[in-house]
Amino acid sequence: SSSSDTLLLLETAHFAAIAHAKQVRKNHARTPYINHPLDVARRIAAPGSTLSPSPPVHILQAAMLHDVVEDTEYTADDIEARFGKRVRDIVMECSDDPSLNKAARKQAQIDHAPHKSWDAKHVKLADKLSNLTDLSSPGGVPIGWTRERVEEYFQWGKRVTDAIGKDANPGLSEQLEELYTKATFEF
Ligand code: NDP
Ligand code: ZN
Repeated sequence: SSSSDTLLLLETAHFAAIAHAKQVRKNHARTPYINHPLDVARRIAAPGSTLSPSPPVHILQAAMLHDVVEDTEYTADDIEARFGKRVRDIVMECSDDPSLNKAARKQAQIDHAPHKSWDAKHVKLADKLSNLTDLSSPGGVPIGWTRERVEEYFQWGKRVTDAIGKDANPGLSEQLEELYTKATFEF
């Protein structure tokens, strides 16, 4: 990739870190929130993803920014002003509609999954893979979540990723399948 791509990725990571600076993950370790969007981006780029070894920069940018509009004070316009409309549109495809209640948001993710753009499908698959991998590790479970709640999240996550389908990124889909087969919920 060119040096301008490298700079763009660093500018994006830097902005995402500022946006999420005051947030931590809900786990016992209180992991800095930024670790999650960075994990989503590196999963898209890593061996095992069908986009490896040359992931498009705008998809990695959207991955690093995917929770900014949903979870921080920054808006879709803020993202477009810095990184352009293409990145903004992917981020918005990956953001829940805040006017819906929690149950409707979860159903909407299942219903809308097949209609998402190819670019958004990569981010959504890697997002679920990141959260479900964390949920599969003893220290990664959010504080207060019961085994039932973890299992419920797994079942919902599988419905979303099944609805996305395997065509977008067979490599990430295969990793998800392995997780669904092997998850034992030890914590
Ligand atoms: P979820 O319970 O599905 O939680 C979603 C949030 O948790 C997202 O912000 C997600 O992050 C985050 N998350 C997922 N995995 C992890 C992880 N490993 N570490 C840290 N954070 C993680 O949704 P809601 O909080 O909106 O709760 C509503 C739903 O929860 C209800 O509809 C119900 O189905 C269920 N529920 C079940 C209960 C039970 O005991 N069975 C009790 C209460 C609620 P990201 O932003 O990256 O997606
Ligand atoms: Zn996320």
